[in-house]
Amino acid sequence: MPIRLPLLLMLTPLLWGQSPRLEEMRGKTVLLFTPHPDDDAFCCAGTLSILVKNQNRVILAIYTNDDKGSADLEMTSERLARIRKGEQEQAARVMGIPKENLIWMGHHDGMLEYVPPRELAEQATLLIRKYRPDAVLLPDPGGEYVRWHKTDHRMAANNSADAIRAAEWHLYFPNHRTHLGLEPWRVPMMYFYYTGKDANYWVNIDGEIDRKLEAITAHVSQFEPAIRRYRPEWNPADLEKTKAGLKARALKKDGRFVEAYRAAGEFNPM
Ligand SMILES: [Zn+2]
Repeated sequence: MPIRLPLLLMLTPLLWGQSPRLEEMRGKTVLLFTPHPDDDAFCCAGTLSILVKNQNRVILAIYTNDDKGSADLEMTSERLARIRKGEQEQAARVMGIPKENLIWMGHHDGMLEYVPPRELAEQATLLIRKYRPDAVLLPDPGGEYVRWHKTDHRMAANNSADAIRAAEWHLYFPNHRTHLGLEPWRVPMMYFYYTGKDANYWVNIDGEIDRKLEAITAHVSQFEPAIRRYRPEWNPADLEKTKAGLKARALKKDGRFVEAYRAAGEFNPM
């Protein structure tokens, strides 16, 4: 039966038709969960910019307000949260994402572990049911950086993955359906970022690398010298030096700038 292989090849686009490559999505909704305002830019700014250019709706759900990470002894948590919010709005603007598409989940930096787990799972599940995304981007629970970096990364990774499962079954948080009219939603595709050796999907961001660096460096207070003594503007020389350093360390594959993911659809990893 020599027809078998050609038939399989013919069917493949049909199967993938339900799960198009991220770069080929048009008019879809993509939801990204980020532990802090800045992880979305570090992991995915190139991909997000491409998605926006392709007329997709991109929603950023931000778990924490990042109100702890400053070495400036004059800084307060309340002020830092305001600064980080403004920086995130600017970074999103660079990527073409309006601030209306930023969902602040309202937790304190480093404290996700102490939020009641049921409350955190329900919060993320509700967002998935509300926005009904065609793809969700989330930290990879198995990624080394996620496991060892910081509690919020571990929590955001596991909680988001668990919420994706919960969102599709109506008996999890049934109040969403009975009280809010939110139907169950099965997320067709997941793209895990901050993944390590499990990466199986790369987005070429050659055309977006400079925009990515601009989005990352919109987080002025996360970098020297502002992280030690806050000031809202970059010194131009510091900015160029920081961008050059980031570009030199940016992930490359086959000579191209890329962003790496572990892509998975339902129970069938690609
Ligand atoms: Zn982070």
